[in-house]
Amino acid sequence: MDTPLVDRLGRPVEDLRVSVTDRCNLRCRYCMPREVFGPDHAFLPRDELLSFEEITRIVRVAVDLGVTKIRLTGGEPLLRKDLPELVAQLAAVDGLDDLALTTNGLLLRDHAGALADAGLDRVTVSLDALDETTFRAVADTRASVLGVLDGIEAARAAGLGPIKVNTVLRRGVNDDQLEDLAGWARDADVTLRFIEFMDVGTTNGWVREGVVPAAEVVDRIGTRWPIEAVERDHPGEVAERYRYLDGAGEVGVVASVTRAFCRDCTRARLTAIGELYTCLFAASGNDLRSLLRDGADDAGLRDRVVAIWSARTDRASELRAEEGLTGPRVEMSYIGG
Ligand code: SAM
Ligand code: SF4
Ligand code: SF4
Repeated sequence: MDTPLVDRLGRPVEDLRVSVTDRCNLRCRYCMPREVFGPDHAFLPRDELLSFEEITRIVRVAVDLGVTKIRLTGGEPLLRKDLPELVAQLAAVDGLDDLALTTNGLLLRDHAGALADAGLDRVTVSLDALDETTFRAVADTRASVLGVLDGIEAARAAGLGPIKVNTVLRRGVNDDQLEDLAGWARDADVTLRFIEFMDVGTTNGWVREGVVPAAEVVDRIGTRWPIEAVERDHPGEVAERYRYLDGAGEVGVVASVTRAFCRDCTRARLTAIGELYTCLFAASGNDLRSLLRDGADDAGLRDRVVAIWSARTDRASELRAEEGLTGPRVEMSYIGG
């Protein structure tokens, strides 16, 4: 990298989230409500998806421009066939510090070993409830929370740690799970992060009253177990971290709605069909696949990414705080959470 690539607000590009599929084996109501993502939903056709080689080429260019962290996501990334092959290709990219995966955990038991062998560094597992009835209602599934817990143990056994677990709390839906989840995570040596429910996309029925503010989460945890704030590791870190004073590790909150952090946002997202998005709340992305398939060389690809990132002005969450979000937005399961 010659001169560091920054956007119009001076933000470098450091993290790239790569969606490998828009399909999922769950139908979390806040992400892929079954009424919208039902049997008739048109998921992306297989031949539209970027190949592993195409993804790796884009990642190599992105790393050359400053990206140090890659997170594979979706949809449910473990539904993508032969994913360890992609992991192996990405693990071989020079300059990458961190190769992670976000998953709902249900298929981790079967895949953790192969992913670790291929060079995956760590996993984040999404888990919104320990109570079986609540879990099934939130994820609109007959699968069991025990499958997720087994997946977490398999990941740990495979060396894919330290394990992080993400929970999206919604008022009146699963906010009663907060203390149970925090207590479980303390005992299970897992770092839990509570993420505010966001108005991603336009189909998940978001209302501000459904958001459990991070400040309330911190209060409730602190009432049960004394905690103190921990300094951020780096500016782009989205979680606000707290340490349990009794030594039982850390817990975090991601205050995407109530304390927007756009000014430090260093994230780009690549969809499964090769569109580069510069914000989770964008209406559209920038097509890189056509460039690849039309025979562009790495210099051409690089110029395009530089042009896209240099023009970036996104700060949707800060604007939401000021004036609310309106207009079309891409769905989370499509862009990759
Ligand atoms: N299927 C995988 C999983 O659930 O971990 C990866 C993709 S999922 C879209 C990534 C993350 O986005 C999950 O942790 C999920 O809870 C979160 N997410 C989805 N919709 C959300 C919303 N409306 N607000 C906040 N987080 C959301
Ligand atoms: Fe699937 Fe993850 Fe969305 Fe749930 S949050 S529906 S597991 S993509
Ligand atoms: Fe980044 Fe957009 Fe989220 Fe702001 S709203 S933190 S710019 S992804």
